[in-house]
Amino acid sequence: AAKLANAATAALRAYDPGHDLPALRARFGAQIAELGSNENPLGPSPFALDAMRAALPESFRYPDPRGASLKAALARHLGVAEDRIALGNGSHELLILLAQCFADPAHSVVFSQYGFAVFPIATAVAGAQPIRVPALPREHASAPFGHDLDAIAAAIRADTRLVYLANPNNPTGTWFGDIELERFVARVPENVLVVVDEAYCEYVDVAGLTSALRLAHRHPNLIVTRTFSKAYALAGLRIGYLLAHPSVVAVLERLRESFNVNNVALAGAEAALTDHGHLDRAREFNTGERTWLADALAKRGYACLPSQTNFLLVDLGRDAAELERHLFERGVIVRPMGGYGLAQTLRISVGSRAENQRLLDALP
Ligand code: PMP
Repeated sequence: AAKLANAATAALRAYDPGHDLPALRARFGAQIAELGSNENPLGPSPFALDAMRAALPESFRYPDPRGASLKAALARHLGVAEDRIALGNGSHELLILLAQCFADPAHSVVFSQYGFAVFPIATAVAGAQPIRVPALPREHASAPFGHDLDAIAAAIRADTRLVYLANPNNPTGTWFGDIELERFVARVPENVLVVVDEAYCEYVDVAGLTSALRLAHRHPNLIVTRTFSKAYALAGLRIGYLLAHPSVVAVLERLRESFNVNNVALAGAEAALTDHGHLDRAREFNTGERTWLADALAKRGYACLPSQTNFLLVDLGRDAAELERHLFERGVIVRPMGGYGLAQTLRISVGSRAENQRLLDALP
């Protein structure tokens, strides 16, 4: 148990904000720039806010344990059957639950060196053996520090039960295309579950990358996780979902906590799905603002890696801890990536124009 706790704590350090946010908010008030957690600065859809307000008086009742209404809405939205959908307390819960359900200490779990921090945590929670596959090199033309799908396929062993991929990935911002994924999945044995974490998929605006969902009907071992935390701007509600073969969903449904998603989250997420205009505005704002911020940073000598997400990974070429501290003292929160082994980088979320300007003003 102690070994497990240590492994999980080490992994958690990479995920935890590590700051006393309420204290910083009190100190800087409106002058704070919260660019550390990849949140959507536009905030939730007004449709979602109305639905959440309407749901509040019902909070004395337990929520619908099946989340039937949201599942039906998601099924319509995505064109999949309801028995392929599971809901979670954030996609974080689903990523952990997958390892708990399908891996144990006799198994290994494969993920990329700079893959999302929850992958090693989920592996540790299940007590399974982590196989961390070296990332693509910094010099790689399109995906510096990104997933090396060939190396990941080659790392799969007879005892492997799960592979975690994130597309696009946090913290690198990198992505791989539909064709690369298709080739990868064709190489993976059918008894290995391939989890594609698409937390940032709504922000993607590059040719050749749609969603792993396209492949799911041909590959029953493919699982896609998504969230309402990013482009839908509902991070505080803690709600995500996954799409998988009904036999996988059936296992998760039996082992999850019965009321893992609360009534306000169910109502807010369902209403958010109907507000296409809000989502389009979030996407357009993010693409424009990310380009503006990357250009402004580059002009000051801060090189950003390519990103299809709502954040930028800045490569300083020297240890980043001092700059993070400097910004923190000025009310600008960014995330150092030392916990990932990327000590020369800072991850900066695309904030509102005012927040981004505050960041630029606070740079040395
Ligand atoms: N996957 C990735 C790649 C993420 O960056 C995050 C959030 N940082 C999540 C999953 C988890 O999001 P949530 O639990 O809020 O759905």
